[in-house]
Amino acid sequence: MSLNQVLSEIRSAAQQAGRAPESARLVVVSKGQSLESIEEKILTGRALPAPIMLAENRGQDLRDKVRQAEELGWQERFGPLEWHFIGPLQRNKIKYLEPVSLVHTLEEAWQAEAIAEAAHKWGHAPAVLLQLHNGEAQKHGVAPEHLKALYHAAVQTGLEVRGLMVMAPYGDLAAAQRVFAETARHAADLGLSELSMGMSDDFLQAIPEGATLLRIGRRLFL
Ligand SMILES: *Cc1c(COP(=O)(O)O)cnc(C)c1O
Repeated sequence: MSLNQVLSEIRSAAQQAGRAPESARLVVVSKGQSLESIEEKILTGRALPAPIMLAENRGQDLRDKVRQAEELGWQERFGPLEWHFIGPLQRNKIKYLEPVSLVHTLEEAWQAEAIAEAAHKWGHAPAVLLQLHNGEAQKHGVAPEHLKALYHAAVQTGLEVRGLMVMAPYGDLAAAQRVFAETARHAADLGLSELSMGMSDDFLQAIPEGATLLRIGRRLFL
């Protein structure tokens, strides 16, 4: 029920904002959820448009879930699946990104270099989003004044930089909406179209500001 509810809220918020309903897509944040629960609450008999995007924030969990999903035949049973990574990128965790099609959390140039180098070995590379710092007391993300340099450094490695990601400050929806609007301006400045912003509590604020990927976890698994 939660999934269909969230999908319908996304659709109507997009329509209200004058956007095509399919332009704001749901990324299912499956971190901390069991395979059984993902299968029951998200995959079974539900109308999630393809490809189904699942996001994890820890390398080992990602590796284990990808393996289990293969054993359970998810692609064959539920259609095309994509794995996204939304956690901090530590050097010793880059090796777990092989099955990932989109990394949302690039914040330093060395991370782009390490991913590009590993991708060379894998024979395929994930696309990346640059995580913007939200201005609040939060440790992750590149400061706006260093965004352009990071963008150029990432492009230089050959990775496809698709857009920006931001986490809004908690508990203040007006502030969240301002952060989303600012992030959209930075993306437009760089000519980037993908905007990963909005979570369970603030995705309705992110849609009018142009979010294209909504990273929602808790609300889907209630
Ligand atoms: C956990 C997480 C989410 C999802 O948050 P919910 O509040 O569960 O919707 C989105 N993005 C990132 C980076 C996360 O770590």
